[in-house]
Amino acid sequence: MSLDFKKMQETIQGIYQKYESETGQFKEQAVCGRGCSFCCSDMGKIDIVTVEGIVLLERLESMPETEAKEIKQGLERDRILRRKGKKSACPFLDELGACRVYTARPFSCRQLYSLRKCDQGGPLVHKQAVFLARKVVRDIQKLDDTGYSGHHSFILKLLHNKTFRNTYNIGGFDPGSIKKFRKKHGITINRFVK
Ligand code: SF4
Ligand code: SF4
Repeated sequence: MSLDFKKMQETIQGIYQKYESETGQFKEQAVCGRGCSFCCSDMGKIDIVTVEGIVLLERLESMPETEAKEIKQGLERDRILRRKGKKSACPFLDELGACRVYTARPFSCRQLYSLRKCDQGGPLVHKQAVFLARKVVRDIQKLDDTGYSGHHSFILKLLHNKTFRNTYNIGGFDPGSIKKFRKKHGITINRFVK
């Protein structure tokens, strides 16, 4: 039976909204603002689950061809740099420091806020928000039970693999078939996360 991605995406939107309402009081104190993008250009991995990857791919497909092509090239550059253990700015970031997939951005990005500018010693976040975010990540992984988690450009690469996609689309689960890719790119099997 095929996975109902539309329903899964609606459920994830509900999880995002619940997190937003639970952390609203904390985020009111954040210093974040448009164009402040250290978190998108100079931070660690941008982890997503496979269903969030499908949302990003759908958004990419709806973009003008030139912009989508530029982002796809950026994703390839990102993979090359990260395989070498180097930092890389998010390929979805535009030259003005804004996110080009803002409404489709994954939870990794939605959870980010800080009580001080991140270029002044990294993000400063309430402990309760960190706790809630961990729970949300787990809830999303449980929802995407036959899927995987990892840095966005690697998950998007996985979703471009036809053999993988055919299995995933019908709710199949065969982590052995992508073992080499998983090991090389730090991909987590959602079902096995405790
Ligand atoms: S999390 Fe940090 S870098 Fe990102 S918008 Fe907020 S203050 Fe700026
Ligand atoms: S997807 Fe958007 S919000 Fe997330 S890291 Fe990339 S540019 Fe920033």
